[in-house]
Amino acid sequence: MTERKHPEGYLAGKTLRPESLMMSYGYHPAWSEGALKSPIFQTSTYVFKTAEEGKAFFELAYGLRQQRAGEIPGMIYTRISHPNVEIFEDRLALWDEAEACAAFVSGMAAIATTLLEFVRPGDVVLYSSPLYGGTDHLLRHVLPRYGATGLAFPAGASTDAIVALVEHAGAQDRIGALMIETPANPTNTLVDLAACASLADHWAREERRPVVLVDNTFLGPLWQHPLQHGADIVLYSATKFIGGHSDVIAGAALGSRELIDRVKALRTFFGTLADPWTGWLLQRSLETLKLRMTSQMKNARYVADYLAQHPKVERVHYLGHLEQSDPQYDVYRRQCLGPGSMVSFDVCGGEAEAFRFLNALRLVKLAVSLGGTESLAEHPCSMTHADVALDEKRAVGVTEKMVRISVGIEHPDDLIADLEQALHRA
Ligand SMILES: *Cc1c(COP(=O)(O)O)cnc(C)c1O
Repeated sequence: MTERKHPEGYLAGKTLRPESLMMSYGYHPAWSEGALKSPIFQTSTYVFKTAEEGKAFFELAYGLRQQRAGEIPGMIYTRISHPNVEIFEDRLALWDEAEACAAFVSGMAAIATTLLEFVRPGDVVLYSSPLYGGTDHLLRHVLPRYGATGLAFPAGASTDAIVALVEHAGAQDRIGALMIETPANPTNTLVDLAACASLADHWAREERRPVVLVDNTFLGPLWQHPLQHGADIVLYSATKFIGGHSDVIAGAALGSRELIDRVKALRTFFGTLADPWTGWLLQRSLETLKLRMTSQMKNARYVADYLAQHPKVERVHYLGHLEQSDPQYDVYRRQCLGPGSMVSFDVCGGEAEAFRFLNALRLVKLAVSLGGTESLAEHPCSMTHADVALDEKRAVGVTEKMVRISVGIEHPDDLIADLEQALHRA
C-alpha cells in the first residue's frame, strides 16, 4: 500500500525512528471512520469499482505488467493480500530497513515458501548447523523429493573449512542458497554473515548467484540486521519476539522488492499468507516490540550473570559473556547490537539434574517456544532437538545437561529467586 504510507512519517524533513512509527505508519484514521486503531478487515473478497479496475488489479497482482507511475494496486482477495497484513509488513520492514516484507501464517510457512521459490532441482542448499528443527526437517527430508539436497556446516566454522567441505562434496557449482541461523539455537554460536555473502559471490555462476537466507528470529529485528551484512533475505518466526505474547503463530520474509515480489507470488499459490486477525495482532505487538525486547535483554543479563557464578552450573552459553580472546567476539562486535535474551546453560550432572531443575521451576514455565513476555525453560536435547541424531547433538554441544531459557519481562529478582530454589533442588 505504498501510496497510503506514513502521513506523519516525516517531521520537518526528519526521518523518524521505527519505535516512533509503530503506532501509525501505513494507516490513517480517515480511511476507517476516524478509528485510531485500524479495524480488522474481516472479509474474504473486495469489491471493484469497475471491471476495468478489476482487470488492472489482477495485472499487477500477477505481475503481468509493471506498475504505472501513481497507480494504486488495489485489494482483490484475502489470500493475495489485505490491509491488516500490509500495515504489519510496512511497519516490520522499518526495523530491518528492508525495501519489502511478506507476512506468513507461520515461521515455517515463511521459510518453506521462500526456500522453494529460490531452490531448483539439482541445487545444494548449504546450511549452518544446528538449525531450527522444522527447517532441518525441510532440508533433510522434504527438499530431496524435489531433487535438491542440503549440506550442513557447523556454526562457527571458518570460511576455509566451509569451502573445503563444499569442495569435498563436489557441490561448488551447485550451491543454490545458503540457509543461515545466527545465533544458533540453543548454543548461541554465531555465523559470520559477511563471510557468507562473500561465499555466495565466490560460488556465483554467470546466470545465478546463490541467495543468502538468514533466520533472524533470535536477535531480530532489534539486535541484528542481516540485510546490512550482505544477506539477501531475512526470515522470522513472528510467533516469537515479534508477536511477543505467546498467543499468535506467524512469520515474515524481508529483502529487496525484487526478491520479495517473487516470494509473494509463490505465497499466493501456496496460500501461506497470514489472515486478518493475525495481521491485526501483530500490528498490536509491534507497538511494544522495543520495550519488550529491551526489558528481556536486561533481565537476561541478570539471569546469565547469576547462573555463571552458581556452583551447580558448569557453563553458560550467552552472547553477553563472550571474551575478547574468543574468535566469536569479533563476529559479535561487527554483526550484533545486543546479546538478546536467550540463555542456555549446562547444569552439573546430566538429564536427571536438568529435569529436577525444570520440574522445580515455579515462575518460569516449562515450555518450548521463546521470545514471549513470560520466561520459559526447556530441555533442548529431549524436546526442541529430539529428532536430531545424538552424535550430531554432541558434536555441536547440545547435551543432556543443557537447559535453555527464554527470559521474559518479569522482575529480575523474582526470576533469580525462582532459579535459585530450582537449582537448589537440582
Ligand atoms: C519457532 C521458530 C521457527 C518456526 O516458526 P513457527 O512460527 O513455529 O512456524 C523457525 N525458526 C526459528 C529460529 C524458530 O525459533
